[in-house]
Amino acid sequence: MTTSETTASSSATSMRTHLCGELRPENIGETVSVCGWVGRRREHGEHLAFVDLRDYSGIIQCVVDNDVDVRSEYVLRITGVVRQRPEGTINDSLPTGQVELGECQVEILRKADPPPFPIDSRADEVDEMVRLQHRYLDLRRERMQKNLRVRAAINSSIRGAMDAQGFVEVETPMLVPSTPEGAREFLVPSRKEPGSFYALPQSPQLFKQLLMVAGVDRYYQMARCLRDEDLRADRQYEFMQLDMEMSFVEQDDVLAAVSEAVLEATEVSTGVRLPAIERITWHDAMERFGIDKPDMRFGMELTDLTAVFDSTGFKAFAGAASIKGIRVPGAAADYGRNKLDKLTDHAKSLGAKGLVWMRVVDVGEGSEGSGFESPVAKFLSSEETAALRSTMEAETGDLLLIVADEWMTTCEVLGALRNDLGRPPVHEGPYNFVWVVDFPLFVGVDKETGRPKPGHHPFTTPHPDDLDKIESDPLSVRSIAYDLVLNGWELGSGSIRIHDPALQRRVFQALGISDEEAELKFGFFLNPFDYGAPPHGGFGLGLDRLVAILAGEENIREVIAFPKTQSGADPMTNSPIPGDPKALAELGLKILPPST
Ligand code: ASP
Repeated sequence: MTTSETTASSSATSMRTHLCGELRPENIGETVSVCGWVGRRREHGEHLAFVDLRDYSGIIQCVVDNDVDVRSEYVLRITGVVRQRPEGTINDSLPTGQVELGECQVEILRKADPPPFPIDSRADEVDEMVRLQHRYLDLRRERMQKNLRVRAAINSSIRGAMDAQGFVEVETPMLVPSTPEGAREFLVPSRKEPGSFYALPQSPQLFKQLLMVAGVDRYYQMARCLRDEDLRADRQYEFMQLDMEMSFVEQDDVLAAVSEAVLEATEVSTGVRLPAIERITWHDAMERFGIDKPDMRFGMELTDLTAVFDSTGFKAFAGAASIKGIRVPGAAADYGRNKLDKLTDHAKSLGAKGLVWMRVVDVGEGSEGSGFESPVAKFLSSEETAALRSTMEAETGDLLLIVADEWMTTCEVLGALRNDLGRPPVHEGPYNFVWVVDFPLFVGVDKETGRPKPGHHPFTTPHPDDLDKIESDPLSVRSIAYDLVLNGWELGSGSIRIHDPALQRRVFQALGISDEEAELKFGFFLNPFDYGAPPHGGFGLGLDRLVAILAGEENIREVIAFPKTQSGADPMTNSPIPGDPKALAELGLKILPPST
C-alpha cells in the first residue's frame, strides 16, 4: 500500500496545495505550496541549498537560497514552482525524484531542536528505549507512518466486513467485575466503596454473551482488552481485539464470519485475496507440527518413528510412548558438536530427557556404514537405520533430530526445534492462515486440586461426541473451541458456548466448582440465560498481531502508536508513577513496603 496515491485535491488545506510526496512531472510549471519537516539539507554551489521537505507522504527536493537558515526538523511552508530536475540529479528511487521545487519562498512555521536520532531508517538501530521516549519523533518516520496507516486500513476493512455481514458494533464497559478467563487482571479501586475494586476487561466476554440474551444477534466491537501478563514480542498489557459473538450458530458460521473479515483485511493490505482458510484439528497440529499454532509456511513436519523402533534394543527408545523426528534438510554440515550440544540442552530445557541427533552421510559403495553419523548409530540395527532413513526420507547431508518421550513432550519439544531451525522471518510472508479446531476441553491437571484445568473459559461447549467422557476421562474430551493462526502466531480464539444449564453444571463440577461457588462467581452472568439465551458462539481476534504480520513486523510494538516497554513502562510519559498520597487516602489505600 502506498500513501502517495492520495490526490492533491483531497489533501490540500488553507496552507498547502499538495503533499510533499505527490509531486510528479505532470505538475511541472505549477506553483505549489507544501508543508513539512526539514529532512536533509545539502549545500548546492555558493548561493543555493537543497532542502528535502518531508511529510507523511514522502519528500520533495526544494532549491532554496543559502541564506535561509533552516535546520533538521524545522517545520516549513515552502511555495515554489515545480520543475524538472537537471540531468544527472534525477533520483529514480524516489517517487518525486524527477522534479524539484525552484524559486522557493520559505516560511519557518516552527524552529526545532536537533532530534535525538535521525528521523529516517537509521533510527531502526537506535536503542528502543530512546525511540519510545521520543515516540512522537519515531512515529514521524516513514516506516512508522506506514505501519499506522496499514493499521488504520485494516481496522476499517474489518469494520466494513463485519458491517456488511450484519454485525452491530456495541461498546461495552471498561470498569467491570473480574472475569474467569484466566489472565491476571488490572484492578481499579473504587472511591465510593473503599476496599472494593473493578477489574479492567480481559475481554468483553461476559457482556457479549449477555448481548446475545438481549437479542442483538450479531455483535462486534473493536475492543480494548487489558491483561496484566508479562510482556513479549507479541504481547502488551493493552491490546485491541476484534471481538464478536453470534446467535443461532454452529462453529462453521463463526469461522466463516471471521474468515471473511481477516481475508478482507489481508486483501486491503497486500492486494491479494487468499483462498478459503484451511482447517486442522488440534490433534493433527500437534502430531504434524508439534504446536497448537503451526507455522505452515515451511515443511520439516514431525515424522512418527514409534513403529520403526517398536522392538528396539536401544535403551533410550525402548518403551517410549512416542518417538518422533524432524529432518533439517542439508543442515548436517552446519551443525558441529558445539551447536548440537546446545540444541540438546535446549531440548532438555523444554522438558525432553534428551535429544538424539544423526547426521546423514553417504554410504559409499560396498561400505559397511549405517549411513548415519551419531553417537547412537552403533546401538541401532541395520533394519532400524534403513527404516529410519526411508521413513524420514532422509538424504545425504540432512540432520535428523529425534525425541522419545510422552506424546505431548515429544511433540512440543520437536515443535519448538522445528520453529527455531526452520521458521522464515515474518516479512518474508507468504500469509498462511489456518483454523485449529477441536481443542481439548481441559488441559492437564491442577497439581493442588487434582482437578482438570479448563483449556478455554468454562463456558466452552464440549464436543457432542465426547459428552460421556466428561467425568470418566476428562482429558480426552474435545471442545468446540477454535483458534485462528497466521504464520505461527495465534491470532485469536473462540468457542461455541454452553447453552444447556445441566451441561454447564457438569463442566463446573469437573473443574471442582460447586453450585454455590458457581452462583457466587458467575450467577450474575449465567442466571440471565434462564430468561431465554439463544445458542451462541463467538471469537476474539488480536488486531495488533494481525497488523504486525501484515506490516511485516516481528514485534507488535512497531504497530502500536504508544506501546509499553518489555517491562511495562512508558518512557515517554514516565508511567507508572507512585500514587499521590492524597488520592490514595481518598481511595482508602495504603502502600506496604516491598516484601523482601
Ligand atoms: N474472550 C475470548 C478471548 O479473548 C474470545 C472468545 O471466546 O470469544 O480469547
